[in-house]
Amino acid sequence: MIEFRKVTKCFGDNVVLQDIDLSIEQGEKVVVIGPSGSGKSTMLRCINVLETINGGDLIVDGLSVRGSQSDIHRIRLEAGMVFQQFNLFPQMTALENVMFGPIRVRGTSRSEARAQAEALLDKVGLSPRAGHYPHELSGGQQQRVAIARALAIRPKLMLFDEPTSALDPELRQEVLKVMQTLADEGMTMVVVTHEIEFARRVGTRLLFMEGGHIVEDGLPASLIDNPQSTRLRDFLQHVK
Ligand code: ADP
Ligand code: MG
Repeated sequence: MIEFRKVTKCFGDNVVLQDIDLSIEQGEKVVVIGPSGSGKSTMLRCINVLETINGGDLIVDGLSVRGSQSDIHRIRLEAGMVFQQFNLFPQMTALENVMFGPIRVRGTSRSEARAQAEALLDKVGLSPRAGHYPHELSGGQQQRVAIARALAIRPKLMLFDEPTSALDPELRQEVLKVMQTLADEGMTMVVVTHEIEFARRVGTRLLFMEGGHIVEDGLPASLIDNPQSTRLRDFLQHVK
């Protein structure tokens, strides 16, 4: 589903991803951890072509991020993204936020988009809030709308960049629960998070990044309980 082949990404002189090789199969739930600045967000952003790579190649569902504009457009439709700062459209209700993408990029009719959006808001437990504006919703509710909005495009994979980091602890679980449901349904997911218990429970694979490299790659429970590098051990002590 996702294949990094010697991917390099620089910002000026700063090499942020260096010769990344990584293959993610359909249905995997890959959790990515690592210190701030290690390249986690950049790695996600390269997958849905929010960043352009400088070297190597990156294939998403058979399409290269170095391909034509129409290939890039297709990749963006196939890779839904959820950000730390929910990024909802403030002037639209929850329902309108979820309807917007399908109408705009999939050419879905308004009535069909509305029916889909209602079903998605139900799925994330927000039917009663469909008519509310983002500022009338809690952070956890806004993030659940953001997940519904990403799903409305019918992506084949979902990318999450620290989806609970901006939330108070008591609101994190409602977002993690929605993500767990998605995982149970078989969605391919790449999740950057410091939620170690989520990594253990939901992740099928854990990557530890540092300095633009993937320094550990394995089963969540074994890496968490038995980290091989001192760097991972130190990192886990900070986030646990
Ligand atoms: P992480 O998500 O692991 O905290 P990032 O991928 O955000 O790390 O950042 C990795 C490095 O790339 C950092 O040194 C950061 O300053 C740099 N970086 C990220 N985005 C940009 C950008 N748009 N312009 C310049 N440097 C950037
Ligand atoms: Mg980041």
